[in-house]
Amino acid sequence: MVDAIVVGARPAGTATAIALARAGRKVVALDRGHFPSDTLSTHLLFAGGVAELQRLGALDRVEALGAPPLPEAYMGGAGYAVRGRYTPVDGIAHGLCVRRTGLDDALVQTAREADVEVRERSRVTGLLGDNGRVTGVVYEDGDGRERALRAPLVVGADGRRSTVARLVGAEQPYRSNINGRACFYAYVEDGRPEWRTIAAQWREGAELGTAFPCDGGLLLVLLMPPRARADEFRGRLEEEWDRTAASIPGLAERLAGCRRISKVRSAIDTSSYFRRSSGPGWALPGDAGHFKDPVTAQGIRDALRYGRLLGEAAAPVLDDREALDAALLGWERRRERECLEIYAWTNALGAGEEMTPIERELYRTAAESDPTLGSTMLDVFSRVRTPSQALPLRRAAPIAARAFFHLPPGNQVTRGDVTRAAAREARRAAADRLVRMRARTLPLPSPSGAMITTCPPPASPSASPLPLSSVRAS
Ligand SMILES: Cc1cc2nc3c(=O)[nH]c(=O)nc-3n(C[C@H](O)[C@H](O)[C@H](O)COP(=O)(O)OP(=O)(O)OC[C@H]3O[C@@H](n4cnc5c(N)ncnc54)[C@H](O)[C@@H]3O)c2cc1C
Repeated sequence: MVDAIVVGARPAGTATAIALARAGRKVVALDRGHFPSDTLSTHLLFAGGVAELQRLGALDRVEALGAPPLPEAYMGGAGYAVRGRYTPVDGIAHGLCVRRTGLDDALVQTAREADVEVRERSRVTGLLGDNGRVTGVVYEDGDGRERALRAPLVVGADGRRSTVARLVGAEQPYRSNINGRACFYAYVEDGRPEWRTIAAQWREGAELGTAFPCDGGLLLVLLMPPRARADEFRGRLEEEWDRTAASIPGLAERLAGCRRISKVRSAIDTSSYFRRSSGPGWALPGDAGHFKDPVTAQGIRDALRYGRLLGEAAAPVLDDREALDAALLGWERRRERECLEIYAWTNALGAGEEMTPIERELYRTAAESDPTLGSTMLDVFSRVRTPSQALPLRRAAPIAARAFFHLPPGNQVTRGDVTRAAAREARRAAADRLVRMRARTLPLPSPSGAMITTCPPPASPSASPLPLSSVRAS
């Protein structure tokens, strides 16, 4: 019997566990993997994400891995170059890009230092319950033995294919969006010292490519072509990756003198969603409960932030069931409120389409007449402002009007294209607002089909193995 069980020990799990342990709670984190180890994910953090590492007390360890600070962001598109710098978050005005093997291990070490007991090679297969309330987990340890552990709170921080979400019946999202871009990434030896402080993105037609300097003197290069092109990579990942990188002129120029030193890794289905994320005795931080397309690189920051906030909300009320469930629901609503707008913004960028005439005009304005606009847009990625705060109507309307009246030379864009793009933006903004209003007032949908196993109380209040073959719920 412990105070809290956390399933999964990467960003969301360690953040939750650290917050609980720092509040004096006894926490066990179970992960089916071992550390240090890699996972399928690129790893850019904007300043807001770096600040979350600092709030957890993990930043010194992460910085020791040697990734260069990235104080500048660069966005190239439609022939324009936009630059931005960060508004400091807790005094931090740079991004960081640290490979997951080192980043996640630094989080695990920070958790252990905070007195979290991290049990590796421990795969959760079932939940224990009492009248619909989750009261513990069943897991298989490294020797293949089945064990049980009980706690008033079970946290499923076990990623997109969350076992805990499935077992509590919350697997089916109540809001989702199919990704329009696929991910193909690789590491290259970076031969361009003058770019080592800049996180960069280019858009060319419907293609999107990024280059983020990271630890080990490497450059992480992520290509996000329209998902419809994923088949073209099948069976010839490296060749198609090289060809696509070369077809984006700004990225190709950035990669001059650089050499790809890794294989290409891919993720085709990165659909975004919100799942119901709290219930009696359980909660789902990180990707287990909510995921956004990687195109805006928000996942690790949100996993850290809402993991920490979950731990802070739950720690004082673990001994009071009603208060705990209310705290979990309050936490879930807060994440929903704070993430909805960036979710919609991310879905728009992840649609896998060419830049709209309004986006082109936004880039032109930022590059030629309003140098503050680049930093304002970076604030959105760093979560200092929401998209509607960064581009309120009084700032967006003149941009749309200029797009309408100053068509680029040639016939690629018509006034009809501009009007359609403006109408789509307006519809999206109105839909966002409506959904956010509803999120404030309506109860969240309740999960169904829970697979929690009712199990008699343990003979002794210890965490010793129980004969549990009868309660496995998978
Ligand atoms: C292609 C791609 C690129 C991305 N790029 C970025 C980026 O640049 N920046 C960014 O911020 N985010 C990015 N993300 C998102 C980011 O990877 C996730 O948001 C983040 O890893 C979420 O952390 P988490 O702790 O919730 O889950 P995970 O990191 O998925 O960790 C879950 C853990 O749970 C464990 N686990 C699973 N099931 C069980 C079980 N049954 N029992 C015990 N343990 C279990 C796993 O072993 C794992 O260690 C990207 C994602 C993808 C797919």
